[in-house]
Amino acid sequence: MRTLVLATRNRHKVGEIQAVLGPAFEYLTLADLPAAPEVEEDAGTFAGNARKKAETLAGWLAANGSALAGREIWVLADDSGLEVDALDGAPGVHSARFAAFDTGRPGNSTDAENNQKLLRRLDGVPASDRTARFRCVMALTPVPAAGAAPSVTQLFTGVCEGSVLDQPRGTGGFGYDPLFLPQGFELSFAELGEEAKNRISHRARALAGLHDWLAAHP
Ligand code: IMP
Repeated sequence: MRTLVLATRNRHKVGEIQAVLGPAFEYLTLADLPAAPEVEEDAGTFAGNARKKAETLAGWLAANGSALAGREIWVLADDSGLEVDALDGAPGVHSARFAAFDTGRPGNSTDAENNQKLLRRLDGVPASDRTARFRCVMALTPVPAAGAAPSVTQLFTGVCEGSVLDQPRGTGGFGYDPLFLPQGFELSFAELGEEAKNRISHRARALAGLHDWLAAHP
């Protein structure tokens, strides 16, 4: 059985990934690897950040994962965020720390702070100009066996088109979910419920590409 190491501590993401990829893998997350290095997400693109996270952790596991020796191990990392057209693609790669970004304050902002800032920045923008999308890039890197050549990373992208509401709706999900109305739906991501969101989300779409690639590379 392959072991998939998920380079995240976000339990929403872990649940969503496991729901799509199913029981064909044994899963570990960063919560199981407390000594794993922190990776600064400074690449400037979702793909760059996802690749950096996956390759850094794969390299660390190759050097430090003796407890996992003999297993076929892959690292899966993702980077995702919201791109708002009226804000020239912001918050984009800065989605997690949108509120703190201009202040120079280190670390992520709370979801409430980020959502308040998004509403402020879009104040007065009519519904027709509030188009946006969630984008997710997933990077899959095999952990090389001792002495083997560095591994090749595969990238998978998923997008969910929609628009930004003018007030929060719903209590489910996380992040910008209460403000995001997916195209063709009347409920926000936070109102849709996990199962429905997992069918159309940017992460689900990236995972579908990953799922097909894994099926073709048993
Ligand atoms: P990251 O991929 O964990 O770096 O996520 C970056 C940020 O994008 C999160 O902190 C959220 O603010 C936002 N985000 C990513 N995916 C979602 C989603 O499915 N719903 C709401 N917000 C999201």
